[in-house]
Amino acid sequence: METVDSLIIGAGVIGLAIGAELSKQQNVIVIEQNAHFGEHTSSRNSEVIHAGIYYPKSSLKAKLCVSGKKRLYAHCSSFHVPFHKIGKLIIATNNDDAEKLETIKQHANDNCVNDLSWLSTTEIKRYAPEINAVAALFSPSTGIIDSHQYMLSLITQLEQNNGAYVARTRFINAKKCSNGFIVTLDCDGEIMQLNCRNLINAAGLFAQQVAQTIEGLSASYIPALYYCRGQYFSYQGSHTFKHLIYPVPEEHGLGIHATLDLMGQLKFGPDTEFIDSLNYQTDEHQKAKFVTAIKRYWPKLNTNKLHIDYAGIRPKLQLKGQQDFVIQSHRDHGIQGLINLFGIESPGLTASLAIAEYVCCQLGE
Ligand SMILES: Cc1cc2nc3c(=O)[nH]c(=O)nc-3n(C[C@H](O)[C@H](O)[C@H](O)COP(=O)(O)OP(=O)(O)OC[C@H]3O[C@@H](n4cnc5c(N)ncnc54)[C@H](O)[C@@H]3O)c2cc1C
Repeated sequence: METVDSLIIGAGVIGLAIGAELSKQQNVIVIEQNAHFGEHTSSRNSEVIHAGIYYPKSSLKAKLCVSGKKRLYAHCSSFHVPFHKIGKLIIATNNDDAEKLETIKQHANDNCVNDLSWLSTTEIKRYAPEINAVAALFSPSTGIIDSHQYMLSLITQLEQNNGAYVARTRFINAKKCSNGFIVTLDCDGEIMQLNCRNLINAAGLFAQQVAQTIEGLSASYIPALYYCRGQYFSYQGSHTFKHLIYPVPEEHGLGIHATLDLMGQLKFGPDTEFIDSLNYQTDEHQKAKFVTAIKRYWPKLNTNKLHIDYAGIRPKLQLKGQQDFVIQSHRDHGIQGLINLFGIESPGLTASLAIAEYVCCQLGE
């Protein structure tokens, strides 16, 4: 039976970032059930490098987003991953929202994001000529990234360190043994077993399903999972957007905001809608809701040029309120060598390198 130090389940940004980091010290395999890496949440997001403004103080999201952002910019420069520190405006379209901006700035400071600045009316017009805003904050450390190239760079790093990425390989179950786990895998139809000392469950929207098949893990450590779809509409026309535009956040997300990709394509979203099953089908009928939300800050929107694009799904652990990343080690569930990552929603892409370092520390304890 083949033996590895660490087996990582899932080749999204999280599994790949952990693989790249752990492979500096260990023999690592990252497995992916699909034919290609990153086909789920890691390729169905806004590709924004978040500053770390909104998350509750001292939460894992706040800490890992702020440190992950710095690492991610450095990684992009070292590995030639396309990115642009484009900056974002957080805008208030009315006086109630303007008051919320004050709180947001204070909160950002609490999270060690000290670079937000107020824009004057003249600056708002210069930064975002057609945007309707009574007040705005500018976040200079917010950026955009090519997430596909980022994942490729992590695979390169993993393989340079003699780690392996194996696609079409599905984790079936794990049993405890004297030196770790005996894991059963379905490798493109062939069932095989492997011995690993550490087992890292980075299966994203499947993390709960994977956890249920790990022998000895009590069900009480497996949180509920709710699928929360976020859809995007793209704008097929010329525009004057130079920075990302975010209205003040709402309960389950950051509101229907405007982002740009590295080609300058303008898109709006994601919205938030709880759905019953893992289904990426889009719903054109949501267009009216998008138009209303966008026109609040961009009255000149030409609705004929707004088209449904794609959807991603957030792995929510609860139906209401803020949730944090849940990263469990033996100190939580008592199983040496097992790490479970649950609810890795936004800012998981931004935080991925910091999450990887955090997981390596947990394994070392
Ligand atoms: C709508 C939306 C917008 C977002 N926008 C941003 C953003 O702008 N900035 C940001 O920082 N974050 C953003 N995020 C969050 C970010 O995309 C996620 O945190 C991140 O992609 C999660 O990566 P992951 O590796 O945990 O999950 P995934 O990318 O889903 O990867 C998990 C992988 O595990 C594999 N897998 C599952 N089960 C098995 C099994 N049994 N065997 C083998 N493989 C298995 C899956 O096939 C999958 O490839 C957004 C998320 C959403 C939903």
